[in-house]
Amino acid sequence: MQQYVMDRPAKTVRIVLRRDISPVGDLPAGDPEELFLAYGWTEEMKKFRPLRDYTGLFKEFAELKPQTSAVLRFVSDYGFLGCTSLANIEAPGRKPSPSQVESLAAWSAHRWLLGTTLELWQHALDENEEGVSKLMSVNNGIVSLVEHHLAANPTIPHIDLLPRSMSSPFGSGSKDAPGKEAMIGAAKWLVNGTVNRALDRFVRLRLDVQQEPTHDTESESISLEPASLLGVVWLQFALYIAEHKNYQRCSHCNRWYEVQTKLARRDKTYCGVNCRSRAYRARKQQQEDE
Ligand SMILES: [Zn+2]
Repeated sequence: MQQYVMDRPAKTVRIVLRRDISPVGDLPAGDPEELFLAYGWTEEMKKFRPLRDYTGLFKEFAELKPQTSAVLRFVSDYGFLGCTSLANIEAPGRKPSPSQVESLAAWSAHRWLLGTTLELWQHALDENEEGVSKLMSVNNGIVSLVEHHLAANPTIPHIDLLPRSMSSPFGSGSKDAPGKEAMIGAAKWLVNGTVNRALDRFVRLRLDVQQEPTHDTESESISLEPASLLGVVWLQFALYIAEHKNYQRCSHCNRWYEVQTKLARRDKTYCGVNCRSRAYRARKQQQEDE
């Protein structure tokens, strides 16, 4: 699983307006002026290993600001989400050609879903009933994340991942408002169901048979493989829940990364050797300048 390799753009990604593109296949319905990210303008791609290199990527994604500039930076750093459609793109000085596009509204909807689900999980762990009830409702045994937020969040209809609500084993058969224990239980149950649906969709099981096995690896193995960047972030989220992982921010690049133990929290902590040596060089440079 740690070997999973995906592409990210080698250069900064550009955006196109919907009016500049004409549909080839099915494009998601949206505002006629809606913004899309275009694959066709970023021919050059770099290989990287998101699960090994960015262990806290799901938290970065959950905290992504709903601004075009922030999304563009995220795509340039980590690649496209994988919620793609096909469209004819007319780039300056070029004939229209079929390209992959991702709508910013779909980005926003996916970020909202992961961010809200993560927040709900954290409130449930803290047994924070008030926090839970701000994100989720339970009515006659129907648990819903979405109904609560629909009016305030116009991008939610772009999520084709979820039904609006699920009937649950909590609070059914009673018109009374559920108690604290039932609310916390329903929240965990809803997070569980949401993560499972995302895993069903974005993560697959793979059999790997190596023709020339090296002495330190098995020649046959089965692994979990994300099908896209969405698979990466939902798989990380599932592992965080299942394995009680801990995270902190890197003192140099400020990214979230997984820490192995709760012990010995030092003053300066880094996400990897690159940031440790960059921080060291920066300190040295500063001393020389003084
Ligand atoms: Zn770092």
